Order: sequence, then C-alpha cells, then structure tokens
Amino acid sequence: MEYVDCHFHVWALEKFKYPWPTPDMRIHKDYWPCGLEGNIENTPVKHAVFVQCLNASSGGTAETEWVMDMATRHPVIVGVVAGLDLTSSNLDSVITSLKAKGCLKGARHILDLDADDWITRDNVSNGLETLAKHDLTFDLLVRPHHLPLVPTVVAKHPSLRFIIDHTAKPIFSEGRTTGWWDDMAQIAKFPNVFCKISGLISEQKEDTWRSIDYQPFIDHLLSVFGVDRCVFGSDWPVFENVGVTYKENLAHTEKLLAKLDQNDRLKIFRENAIRFYKLNL
Ligand SMILES: [Zn+2]
Repeated sequence: MEYVDCHFHVWALEKFKYPWPTPDMRIHKDYWPCGLEGNIENTPVKHAVFVQCLNASSGGTAETEWVMDMATRHPVIVGVVAGLDLTSSNLDSVITSLKAKGCLKGARHILDLDADDWITRDNVSNGLETLAKHDLTFDLLVRPHHLPLVPTVVAKHPSLRFIIDHTAKPIFSEGRTTGWWDDMAQIAKFPNVFCKISGLISEQKEDTWRSIDYQPFIDHLLSVFGVDRCVFGSDWPVFENVGVTYKENLAHTEKLLAKLDQNDRLKIFRENAIRFYKLNL
C-alpha cells in the first residue's frame, strides 16, 4: 500500500518573512523537500501535498511558485495548497496563471492571523466561489471556536470541496465536555466537507503527547465523516517541535486507525487524498 501524505510544509527563513514559526521554537530553521524525502524513506509514504505557510497578503504568490518550482525536481510533491488572496479582484487570473505553472490543487488561509469571522465575509465568499469555478479546494484551518461558523459557509458553496485541517485541533484534555463533538457531527452532514486526520501531536507537549487519549476523538470522526471523507496528513515538520519524528507520527496515526480493515485504511492513507485534491496518481 502506497500512502499519500496530504499535509506537509517546507519553509526557508531567509527567503520569506514568516509570521510563524517564532524564533523560540525548535522548528525555527529551514525545511526543504529533501528533508521530507529523507523522512519518508522506508515508510509507505510516496507522495505528499504541500500546504501554505504564508497568507497571500504577506507574500503574494511567491511561496506558491517557489514550491511548484521545487515540485518539478521533487516528484514526491504532487500538489500545492496555496495561500491565495480570496478577496482580490484578480483572483481569477492569478489562479489561471498558477494553474498553467504547476500542480495547484487548492487554497488555504491562516485564520489565526485574522478576526474569527473572516471566513463568513462576503468578499471571502466571492473568492470561495472562484475556487469552486476552477475545481480547486479550500482547507479550513480552524479551531473549535470557529466551528459554529462552518455550516453556513460550506452550505453556501455546495460545489466547493472543503477539508477541516488537523481535526480542528480539539482540546484533548477536555474530553467529551466541549462543543467540538456536536459541531463536527453537524459539519460532517455536508457531503462537500472532508476531515484531515493530521497534526494531532503538533500542538501538544513533549512530555505529555504520548499519554493523551486521542482514540475517542478519531472514532467520532470516523463515525460522522465515515471512511470516505477522512484523510491522512502528517503536518511535518511541525511535530518536530515536540521532539517527534516523522516515523513516530506516522506510527501514531496508524495505531489510531488500526481497527479498520485494509480497504478502509487504503482510503484514508491514499485514495481519499487523491479524490479530494484530484491528484494525478
Ligand atoms: Zn500544518
């Protein structure tokens, strides 16, 4: 079984001005595609999708073009989720030009850098419609407090494929007491929304990530989204910030999905990513 990792990053700190990672972090150093290639050696992961680190407002399309260029030399990169300015009146022509240059598959916006209601704004909505028109996707980098806003947004754009990044980062220590459970169940009712089983460890702590009970959260996602709309992503190299290796992160995800039969695991580790991002694999 060959896996697709639907979520990784690279960054070059000298090349672009990033709002994150901050200098106090262990991952505040350069990461390149060859680092990913080294990490996936002797694993089933053969292909991966890059996800933006820069919102377009802080770097235009330079990051997207940089990664699409590297993808021509690193066949591991089969897709790019770009930081596009959804509010720009030029969005249509920007997309047309990027599509001609490489493997553009979708867009994302780092919501942490904007007001919580950014996703519901009219000019953003116009941009989402443009993505749909170009058969691109939108990654929702949301936290639990954003989730009540999501049903209205995804209902408004039924032909746009959305994916929730990192299971919306639930606070695992709060168990079943939060709104995350119901909110995710409501969102999963929309057939155009997928969910990334990714980034589970990224924001945990080095000494406690192993003791967290992630399983009920993953089981809930499997039950509401089903095996056809859950997708594996690593979020490399973010988990290196808590001293976790690519192989440890992968083994951790595999263990959480071990109860599924091989056919269902194939969907989550490969086929759903190909279908969602329309990868040429
Ligand atoms: Zn990420």
